[in-house]
Amino acid sequence: MTARVLDGRAVARQVYDQIGKAVSDRISRGASRPRLATVLIGDDPASAMYVSLKQRNARGVGIESEDHRLPSSATTEELLALVEALNRDEAVSAILIQQPAPKQIDMRQVVLALDPVKDVDGFHPINAGLVALGLPGGVEPCTPAGIVLLLERSGIGIEGTNAVVVGRSNLVGKPTALLLLKRNATVTVCHTRTKDLAAHTRTADILVSAAGRANLISKEMVKPGSAVVDVSTNWVEGRQMGDLGPGVDAVAGWLTPNPGGVGPMTRAMLIKNTYEAEVRRRG
Ligand code: NAP
Repeated sequence: MTARVLDGRAVARQVYDQIGKAVSDRISRGASRPRLATVLIGDDPASAMYVSLKQRNARGVGIESEDHRLPSSATTEELLALVEALNRDEAVSAILIQQPAPKQIDMRQVVLALDPVKDVDGFHPINAGLVALGLPGGVEPCTPAGIVLLLERSGIGIEGTNAVVVGRSNLVGKPTALLLLKRNATVTVCHTRTKDLAAHTRTADILVSAAGRANLISKEMVKPGSAVVDVSTNWVEGRQMGDLGPGVDAVAGWLTPNPGGVGPMTRAMLIKNTYEAEVRRRG
């Protein structure tokens, strides 16, 4: 079997088209234009590139963006002051703080200071709590929401499947498990203390790997015909790869390319969340 592609770039384009139309409908009926404020601390070139890509994606669908920069020596208090000003700014729909921030910044304090309505990444405990409880109104974090939408738009039924998530981080693993559970999958979450990882992964109709370990998932660990989502970004000899070892594409039924799978979906969900933040704020 050669796996079919879970094409994150194609589904991301659908999301941009849908949000672009929704924004222009808003504008044509005289409603407010969404606006994304990005915050970059320091001068890491990769982070600067990610921020400018996100701004470009926003502009592409008619969402305004504004760029805030702090030096790499910035303190938690300086970042808190900026976040509080952006919370108060009526023109700002959503706030993105590019991570990782420099080590001296206490991101837990910063996330708590965000207005939950403007928390485009869904990191604030109010949003995480609403998502965990399966209640409406919470902001779903971008990567997990992107994974689930990619599966759904690719026609993969989630309900009733055995889903295995490798990784339990607050950023990816845990919220992905919750979103799959909400869609009635039977979900197993694996981590470094899991005994016999392969015994779990082999039962997975849907396998999401977010361990950040190149070659962790060998072809023997994959159920034939399953859908495999390779979230991780590992750099091996200057090349991006995920967690999958050679030959998984010959066993899986569906597979995300890496790059070109989850990454584009994550960026598209940021734009969707920005639009939805404005709708939540102003109707
Ligand atoms: P993280 O915080 O380092 O979490 C990794 C998780 O994987 C942990 O729960 C860890 O278990 C588990 N793990 C590590 N090695 C394992 C092993 N050998 N067996 C079983 N479980 C193992 O990373 P993250 O923030 O969740 O991100 C995961 C990966 O996704 C990274 O490569 C990251 O760059 C990538 N990522 C990609 C996107 C995208 O848009 N494509 C977005 C976000 C993240 P313990 O909890 O026991 O330590």
